[in-house]
Amino acid sequence: MIPYGRQDIQQADIDAVLQVLQSDFLTQGPIVPRFEQAVAAKVGARHAHAVNSATSALHIACLALGLGEGDWLWTTPITFVASANCGRYCGAQVDFVDIDSRTYNLCPTALEAKLERAEAQGRLPKVVVAVHLCGQPCDMQAIHTLSRRYGFHIIEDASHAIGGKYQGEYIGSGRYSDITVFSFHPVKIITTAEGGMALTNDDALASRMDLLRSHGVTKDPELMTHESDGPWYYQQVDLGFNYRMTELQAALGVTQLERLDDYVARRNALAERYDSQLTRLPVVTPWQHPDSYSGRHLYVIRLKLDEIDVSHRQVFKSLREQGIGVNLHYIPVHTQPYYLAMGFQRNDFPEAQRYYAEAISLPLYPTMTTAQQDEVVNALQQAMEVA
Ligand SMILES: *Cc1c(COP(=O)(O)O)cnc(C)c1O
Repeated sequence: MIPYGRQDIQQADIDAVLQVLQSDFLTQGPIVPRFEQAVAAKVGARHAHAVNSATSALHIACLALGLGEGDWLWTTPITFVASANCGRYCGAQVDFVDIDSRTYNLCPTALEAKLERAEAQGRLPKVVVAVHLCGQPCDMQAIHTLSRRYGFHIIEDASHAIGGKYQGEYIGSGRYSDITVFSFHPVKIITTAEGGMALTNDDALASRMDLLRSHGVTKDPELMTHESDGPWYYQQVDLGFNYRMTELQAALGVTQLERLDDYVARRNALAERYDSQLTRLPVVTPWQHPDSYSGRHLYVIRLKLDEIDVSHRQVFKSLREQGIGVNLHYIPVHTQPYYLAMGFQRNDFPEAQRYYAEAISLPLYPTMTTAQQDEVVNALQQAMEVA
């Protein structure tokens, strides 16, 4: 089976992890801060907080922004459930904004229309989670302009997008958002097995997230309510969690990060090769905005169903049967039973629904060979029964 995504582990990664195992600290040592500083320096952010997953990063990001009961969080329906669930963790209500037909990202025009209606109804969102689907950045400048007019905060869910660029700057620089979140799950661009990171340029948000990832406990005298009782002393000043990343994970992250640009370049080269090979098939290949350099976490095609005699389900099934580990990113979140129970209807977001009926993620990962890629293209041709 050719998987849809796969991590790349090299000797340098193994050596780095082994070194930590033989060191004094398996957690809360020097490597986590080293990894944080390396990512912050790479993408041009002031602060970075490593955590045990992007899901945890989204949670503390929402809490740091003050999201709570009575508030609304908006995001795209075409994302992993975690982009929406973080709002529910905070007791907020969740709503969705339909996608753009070309980028498949949250559509700024649909966002503007929904904001106008929400303002009239007095239910504007407190937080909008902009998800850079497949690694292609959202139209952040437009979303940022709307945030100024309507007073919401922006979290970039850049789980797919580390190493990509928007308007020539690395995603994570935070020019158009409050907080950016990365995921280091093995299918993502670089991995720490499980892991995530929250980045911000705002000192107060950084300090809040630092507390929240570790029990709300601090040893910083400046954050305490009164003078220290002694050298053993710490205070719990908020209700936090244990969302810490281990030293083993961070060591893997440091060595993986050194290869980030190579990974993204390789992903882009393979994606462009797919583009040219697929022109002869009845599929829509991913459109790329000229302002963006995608991290290319995923390569999603859309079937031109009116030009073929087989169904989306048949093509997908045939590819799997031919040993091609295709996937579908994503089932629209509002159609999950948990969200349907809140009153969403399947056809609430028509562009997302159309996408779901046509999309297939083809295998893409940096160690994929061109021979494997040819195998995928041939299998797809076979599956679509076109000559
Ligand atoms: C993978 C992913 C997440 C969650 O990441 P974890 O590190 O597995 O918690 C969140 N949002 C998006 C868009 C993702 O793809």
